[in-house]
Parts: sequence; structure tokens; C-alpha cells
Amino acid sequence: MAQPSVAIRGQRSLLRQIREALAGGGPAQLRLDMVVRIIARSMVAEVCSLYMRRAADEMELFATEGLDPAAVHVTRMKQGEGLVGEIMKLGRPLNLADAPEHPAFSYRPETGEDPYHAFLGVPLLRGGRAIGVLVVQNRTARNYTEDEVEDLQIVAMVLAEMVAAGELVGAELKGVEIAPHRPERLKGSKFGDGLAYGVAVLHEPPVAPSQLLSDDVAAEEVRLKTAVDSLQAQIDSMLEGQAGLVDASFEVLDTYRMFAHDRGWNRSLEDAVRNGLTAEAAVERVRSEHRARLGQARDPYLRERLHDLEDLNDRLLRHLSGDGHVARELPENAILIARNLGPADLLEYDRTKLRGLLLEEGTAASHAAIVARALDIPCVGRLPGLRDRVSEGDMVIVDAETGEAYLRPRTDVVKAIQARIDVRRQRRAEFAKLRDTPAFTRDGAKITLLMNAGLDVDLDILGETGAEGIGLFRTEFQFMVAEEMPRFNAQTALYGRVMDAAGDLPVTFRTLDLGGDKVLPYMEAEREDNPALGWRAIRMGLDRPALLRLQLRALIAAAGGRPLRIMFPLVANVDEFRAARALVDIEVAWAERRGRKAPSRLDVGAMIEAPSLIWHLDALLPMTDFVSVGTNDMMQYLFAADRGNPRVAERYDPLSPPALRALEQIQRACAETGTPVSVCGEMAGRPLEAFALVALGFNRLSMPPAGVGPVKQMVLSCDREAARRGVSALIKSAAGSIRNEIETLARKIYVAI
Ligand code: PEP
Ligand code: MG
Repeated sequence: MAQPSVAIRGQRSLLRQIREALAGGGPAQLRLDMVVRIIARSMVAEVCSLYMRRAADEMELFATEGLDPAAVHVTRMKQGEGLVGEIMKLGRPLNLADAPEHPAFSYRPETGEDPYHAFLGVPLLRGGRAIGVLVVQNRTARNYTEDEVEDLQIVAMVLAEMVAAGELVGAELKGVEIAPHRPERLKGSKFGDGLAYGVAVLHEPPVAPSQLLSDDVAAEEVRLKTAVDSLQAQIDSMLEGQAGLVDASFEVLDTYRMFAHDRGWNRSLEDAVRNGLTAEAAVERVRSEHRARLGQARDPYLRERLHDLEDLNDRLLRHLSGDGHVARELPENAILIARNLGPADLLEYDRTKLRGLLLEEGTAASHAAIVARALDIPCVGRLPGLRDRVSEGDMVIVDAETGEAYLRPRTDVVKAIQARIDVRRQRRAEFAKLRDTPAFTRDGAKITLLMNAGLDVDLDILGETGAEGIGLFRTEFQFMVAEEMPRFNAQTALYGRVMDAAGDLPVTFRTLDLGGDKVLPYMEAEREDNPALGWRAIRMGLDRPALLRLQLRALIAAAGGRPLRIMFPLVANVDEFRAARALVDIEVAWAERRGRKAPSRLDVGAMIEAPSLIWHLDALLPMTDFVSVGTNDMMQYLFAADRGNPRVAERYDPLSPPALRALEQIQRACAETGTPVSVCGEMAGRPLEAFALVALGFNRLSMPPAGVGPVKQMVLSCDREAARRGVSALIKSAAGSIRNEIETLARKIYVAI
């Protein structure tokens, strides 16, 4: 098709002209009229029209060159209505040789568009959401070239950023919805408990309009190339340089690498830079387009690929900014808004100013959520469309008690939340007063309350909580927040710091519990159909003994003659425990042979998470020094419900006869053999669940730091004998859940839950 190209390729001056027109003085309408005229002329189009989004979810014709000027501010298209409404809905360009032939075409007589056939419309995108639509039309029926589409998209991007940045204000623009401004309430999932009210800070802020256009295209091309090259090299080495833990398929990372080397992606970036954008703006432009295109996809595979692309774009921006991510200065009371966060991202922000976290994606078991809980930062995730609905500086509420986010909340909502925040604060102050009070039930049973930890940052909290030690130290967290596999020295240093911080208080180190949902960015992972039932935890440790032995060696070295407690995760069979324990013995002997100090006392325990062990406790308990029940995993296996899947994770109640009977059986077997037993799943940190555990006879509970105060208050108010009688009767019930009954019991005997 030998059509004369009407592309604006190379005409960077067009972008400058648009900028000057928009930023110049005079009424906004005149400036917009000038902009459409400039674009029409430059693209040799007979029509150029700009539509902007009205708050009522419709597009309004704001300026036109070529159509009847009387239609300006008159013609409106609802989302999905007409070609403009279609572009608004899809968030991507429509390139039509003969517009009236398209099923969505909607004829508007006032515009006088009858003679025009060729139609190219592109959205003005902000965060994947169309805030306007830019259209060019020609009489002769033809498809616009790829270059022309690309050019118009670049123009649309510059327009979108300038309009959104408020470079175009005027009475005419009142009611234009550049950013959503109405209060909104989004329902998501609770990832970390608590409440917060503060100001939205975007983890990935849009490129500022002042940084959109480059002054020197050649230099910008070099910047882009250098950044892309180093990104590709990094990803290649991630894939190749790893001492592979899994000899399995490289599928996941390989797809990622494929994207990084993708010619189409690279070409789009280069084109955007050649047309005058900065490399950063080019990344954003290509990203907006991917988001708009793949964001619509229902196919989970395609949506996954969008994640890969988003990650790649983020990485590329980091390469462009030099040495990587420099976390931004936060305002007071910041609420961080992100799609998802990488392992270490949250730790880069100033913890004293960060009040809450809202994520568009993720799961409660995701890295960000785990770190947020460790830092005691309220977090709600799985909020679809979050980033399209929040602008930097919006006031937002994180309600992690209900799993909701309020955007730009009304004053009455703010007041209600503030009242709840005050109540929480008062309760915390009461818990703090109990810090040094030992946890005895009213009838004199001592309950040992311990804390779960996993990062250095948790150690500060140990003293504040009044916990009597660390009942579960999740060693895999260090691996999850690292950029590369922590070596022996790094492991030893962390374990040493933990023991130093705990002083005389005991610390139970759990060996690496990787696999399942805990994947490492730098480790090739084989795709498994059922990761929770797959190659994880002690299974991985026994199959790759070098990794486990290195960790045991680091633990023994860190103890340096002090007492040491080690436990193994997800033991499903007594032989696994035997084998793991043998590795400990080998490492102790190894240390002694080298004249190093062996631990002054060594306790080796198993986590009871796989239900199989419940019927082999007679064999297991005599081999162990202690056991700890991991109820998070145990519940998922007992009820066959993936703990990371929001559709099923909360379908079953630990406060139910089968779960409590299983726990009772474990407690009894431990009491009979005199084996110390604790519960270290999340349920131990919730007062009502902890009440049930105490009633069943458990004396040691290990929990997230925020649980220690409330659980201690429960213990102090509890008559254990009355609780035992009540709960033993209730677990005979035929009901699926006995939560309400247990709650009624607790209230009846005046337990603070
Ligand atoms: C558990 O499964 O209950 C547990 C404490 O371990 P994690 O949550 O780390 O799997
Ligand atoms: Mg577990």
C-alpha cells in the first residue's frame, strides 16, 4: 500500500510546539484549539479532535480542527459508546480504514464528520486509565501506519502528562476528571493488621512533565542503550550465574529474559526516544500501552506476563537512575501505594513516617505483606484498579481490620477512623503497662508468650513487647529480602545479632522454609502444579544438604558456645526428622574437630505442620527435644485449602471441632511424653484463638509482636480450668465452626478477648 507517510517522525519540534501552546498564556480553550491545529497540520490530517473525560465517566469534545466547532462541549460519548467511548473503555488505539463500518461507530450529526473515513484515535493515559482521547481523521479510507500510531501516542502521552500536572487550567476545564476526586471505598484483603490515615505516596510516581522531553536525542539514545544493555546483562547473569538450586526448567526466568531481549519492546523504546522523549518517559509510554492492553486480559497467563513487563520496566528505570533505587523522602503519615513490592522495597522507606501500605496485588504471604507485618505497618492488598484511582497527595485510609481502603474519604469517615485509631492506641498503652507482668492465668498456670521474628528490624520490638523469647525465627526472610543468596558470613552475622539482642531469652531458629509461596528472586524455581504440596522446606533441605548444612554451620558458629535451638519446618515423616537431626550432629562434630566451641546446650525440634505426624507422635516425640505446631500450614493441609488463595484461605475455621481435636491430640501426646510444645502459627496471636489453645492445655504460644499484649491480657483474665471444661464440651459439637460458642464461653467467664 503506497500511502504517503504523514508521520511526524523526527519532528520533535511538534512536541515543543505543543508544550509551548499549552504552557503559554491566554484562555485554556484557545490554547487547546491551537494544539489540535498544530497536530492536524503536522500529521496532515483533515481532522484532529481532543476529547477529555468528564466526571460522569464520559468523554466530551473539547477542541477540534476540522469538525464543526459548534459540537465543542456539546458532543459527549459515554464509556463504551461510539469509537471514542470504545477507546476510553479499552484504553488502546483504534486504527480504522473506514470508521462508519465499525460496529461501535455512533453517528453524531452535530459534528459534521460525514465525509471522513480514516480514523485513528489514541487514549491519553494516566496509570493505565484514559483521561482523554485524541483523534485524527482523513477523508480517504486507509489504515494509518504503525509509525503514525506511535507518533500520535507520544503526542497523547505528552498531552496527558501536561494536563494532569495542571499545566492547563481554565474555567473550561472545570469538571474534567483528570484524576478521580470522589471518595471511594475499595474492598481488598487484610495483609497486616491495624488502621492508618495519611497521605498517598506512589511507589512508582509518574515521570514529571518537565522530564518528558529530551534536549539531546543522540545522548538520550545512548543513555537508553546503556541502561537496556546493563539490564539485559543483569538478567542473563541472574539466569546463568546461579549455582542452581534446581536443575529444573528455567521457564519463569527464561520468559523474563525473553522479554528483556524482545525486539518489539526495545524498538518501541528506541522509537519513543528518537521522537524526542527522555528515556524515562519512553519507558512510561511503552508501559502505559502494555498496561492498557494486557490489563484487560482475562487469561491469567497474559496477566502474569504483564507482571513480568512491569518488573522489567521498573528495573529499567532503576538502571536509568544510576545505582538503582533511592527511596524518596516521605511526608509525615505516608501511606505507600504500589502495585506490588519487591522483597526489600519497603525497608528502603523511612519507617518512622510510613503509616500504612496499600497494594494492588499480592497475597498475605507475599514478601511485602510479611515485611509489613514484621514492621507492624497496616497493609491491605488485592485492591484492583488502586493505582488508577489514587493520585499522589490524596488522603487515604488503610483499614486492615476489615481489609478496605478509603480514598479521599469524607470527614465523617475520617472521624470514625480516627476514633478507632485512638481506641487502638489506648489499648496499646494498656498492653505496654503489662509488659513486665508475667502471664499467669487466674488459676495460676504460667503461659509463656514468645514472639515470631525473621528480620533484624524485629529485634527492636522484642524488648517492647515483653515477650519471653523468640519462639520462631523465620530464617528464610533474610534470603527473601536479599538480592543474592546470603553467604555463610552474612548468615552467621545475622544469627549472632539475633542471639545478642535476645540476651538470655531463648531463640528458636527455624531452618530455611523456602519453596511453596516463598520463592527467591535469584533462584530458579521449577513451576509446580501444587507448590504448597511441593518441593519446599525440609524436603529441599534434605535434597540439597549443602545448603542446609551451611545454615547449620552458621547457626553453630553464631552460637559460639551459647545454647542453640534449631527446628525443622514441614516435617511430614519421622525419617526426615532423623535425617535432618543427623546433619546437625555432623555439623557439631565438624565444629568440634576444628576446635570451635559447640553449643553449650543444643535443642533440636520439629514443626508439626503436616497432619501425618499427628498419628506418629509416639515415634516422633522421643526423638525431639521440643515441637512447635505451625497452625498456618497445618490448617491448610487439614482442610485442603491453600493459605495463599483468598478464595479458600478463610473458608475454614481453626475454631472448629476437627482442628481443635487435632491440636488437643498433639497437646496430650506431648504432655504424656513430657515434650515441650508451643504453637507458633498466627492463631496463637489472636486472643480468642489463644484462649482456645490455653483451654486445650498449651503453655507456650509464639506470635507476631502485636499479638503479645492482647494475648497477655486474655491470659491474665482467664480461669484455665473453666476454659478447659467449656472448650472440651464444645469440641464434641457437630457444628462446622464453634467460634461463636467459644466467644460466648469466654465472655461468660469474663475473659478479655
Ligand atoms: C506455620 O505454618 O504455622 C508457621 C508458623 O510457619 P510459616 O507461617 O512460616 O509457614
Ligand atoms: Mg509453616
